[in-house]
Amino acid sequence: MPLYEYFCDDCQKEFTLLQPASVNKEETTCAECGSDKVTHKFSTFTSKIQGVTPSSRKRPVTEDDYPNKDVFKLPIPRLRSDL
Ligand SMILES: [Zn+2]
Repeated sequence: MPLYEYFCDDCQKEFTLLQPASVNKEETTCAECGSDKVTHKFSTFTSKIQGVTPSSRKRPVTEDDYPNKDVFKLPIPRLRSDL
């Protein structure tokens, strides 16, 4: 289960909740004062994934990276020594 960080507008406190991803974050109440004026900041679970993203983009170029895939169907030019 991911951790979610909230900030309470009423008591000005931050708190972290361990919640299932399916929970309605709009209905989450403050762990300190019970106020429903809480702001969902971010999930540490998600921020970890985002931190990984830049390095995962350094993957080898594949066929999917080319908008025109027909270029792979063209015959490969032969070297003159093969003729
Ligand atoms: Zn509060």
